[in-house]
Amino acid sequence: MRTREKSYVADHVNDLSPSGIRRFFDLASQMGNVISLGVGEPDFVTPWNVIEASYHSLERGYTAYTANAGLLELRQEINNYLNKNYHVSYNPENQILVTVGASQAIDVAFRAILNPGDEVIVVEPSFVAYAPAVRLAGGIPVTVDATEEFAFNVQADQIEAAITSRTKAILLCSPNNPTGAVLSKQELEAIARVVEQHDLLVISDEIYADLTYDETFTSFAAINGMAERTILVSGFSKAFAMTGWRLGYAAGPKEILAAMTKIHQYTIMCAPTMAQHGALEALKNGMDSVKEMCISYRQRRNFVVKALQDMGLSCHVPGGAFYVFPSIERTGLTSTEFAEQLLQEQRVAVVPGDVFGKSGEGYIRCSYATSMKQLEQAMKRMRTFVEAKIN
Ligand code: PMP
Repeated sequence: MRTREKSYVADHVNDLSPSGIRRFFDLASQMGNVISLGVGEPDFVTPWNVIEASYHSLERGYTAYTANAGLLELRQEINNYLNKNYHVSYNPENQILVTVGASQAIDVAFRAILNPGDEVIVVEPSFVAYAPAVRLAGGIPVTVDATEEFAFNVQADQIEAAITSRTKAILLCSPNNPTGAVLSKQELEAIARVVEQHDLLVISDEIYADLTYDETFTSFAAINGMAERTILVSGFSKAFAMTGWRLGYAAGPKEILAAMTKIHQYTIMCAPTMAQHGALEALKNGMDSVKEMCISYRQRRNFVVKALQDMGLSCHVPGGAFYVFPSIERTGLTSTEFAEQLLQEQRVAVVPGDVFGKSGEGYIRCSYATSMKQLEQAMKRMRTFVEAKIN
């Protein structure tokens, strides 16, 4: 018999700390009159034609499993979309896997490529799931900091300095959560040279690719020689406002995709069928809706960045996604103090930057995926708070 002092939970799971974002959600949800700039999801409802397509698929009786890798027609459409928009090309038969959100694609990618003790370079500040996904797959995350000095874009020499004999892969995310930074083609090319030289793989999380506002987005897989080294991860949650549908995908080299599909087959079987039918419609007829939402996000970004700068905070202009990551240094507060006090005093929820990695300390993440009306109100409240702290 086990004694109760012993945890039934595996050590490597006990060692993971719970996501810092959740804590703030829970705190905010217990209060009234809170404007939340905390959540990383669109305020838009999924475009109606997508909802209808999914609904009709159920009516027509498509209620069974699909192929493990996903509906072939959807994989073909994913390839057309990637090809047309990002100039990368895959064989839909064996190089694309439809997953339960980009989250599952990331999880399966690491499980497919990592041996115990392999290192993965994770650029921070980063999406909170990356380092845990590496650890759960038996790997070791090695952090490199993307700093404001370089517009929150990691530089190739920083990556090179972190490489050891155990380095297997680099995880890149552009446009970035939480900073909104977009890596330029030149920056990606410089990273590609390091990747080639050290024979590495790249997991490129491009889930915000359609939400860029100033410059054209370059897929890492489109850089010369990188398609065979890149696992491209993306999904429908952000651009198509489909977070609850849980649909994403991975595309990449045949051997790796076969390995990922094997894991997926034993653990998930297939992504939800009705969501796959919705996604098919999203790619076929949903791009106009994406463009409309993108125009709206751009307006909101411009408004929020200006409002933050006007209240005296230094705020880098993010090129994509729907987050701003202003410095709160002038207030003299830590990220957590700022977020806690702003919530208590002004009922505005933001996420402390250190949740996304140590280098996020001194910053906060505000999502502008909420209505202009709410944003105007939130900025007004935040201005009152910040001015009181600065003066
Ligand atoms: N990657 C990034 C950078 C994200 O911000 C998120 C969601 N916050 C995901 C992946 C997960 O997306 P999905 O809903 O497709 O699992």
